[in-house]
Amino acid sequence: MKYVMYALFLLLTACGAWVPEELPMQVDMDEALPSHVKENILIVAERFEAAIGRPIVFVTERAGGSRPGRVHIRYATSGEVREGSGGHAVSSHDRCVVALVPPTRPNATPGKVLIMHELLHCLGYDHAEKGSDSIMAPNAGKGVLTAEIVDELRQRSE
Ligand SMILES: [Zn+2]
Repeated sequence: MKYVMYALFLLLTACGAWVPEELPMQVDMDEALPSHVKENILIVAERFEAAIGRPIVFVTERAGGSRPGRVHIRYATSGEVREGSGGHAVSSHDRCVVALVPPTRPNATPGKVLIMHELLHCLGYDHAEKGSDSIMAPNAGKGVLTAEIVDELRQRSE
């Protein structure tokens, strides 16, 4: 089974497909993000490490003009903003972009729970049941990084 998984991994890598299983996940922050948002992103990486027991997210800063990395966090453009949403993550064939809604709108501060929720989308997690405490509830619930997610990420990062 392990060989099959490895072969699949190589195949996906060779095709340039988005492989959320690849840990640690390399994340770059848009240079234009304000420093308090960048700080929150770094704290989220530390929280992942504290929960999982090893680093699973490596964060770097992307200098202006250079090509964004496979996982890129930036502010959403006005056309991307959806009512009642603080941000979203979009995965394409070779990358995952997290677009955070700039905090000029009501109830739309890009906080640590939201950033962790969006990065978990990049790691391949879909929404949990609405109304659950899980950080993967549609509204990030009570922000709980569930034992199920922790165990799964621990296994994936071994
Ligand atoms: Zn979501």
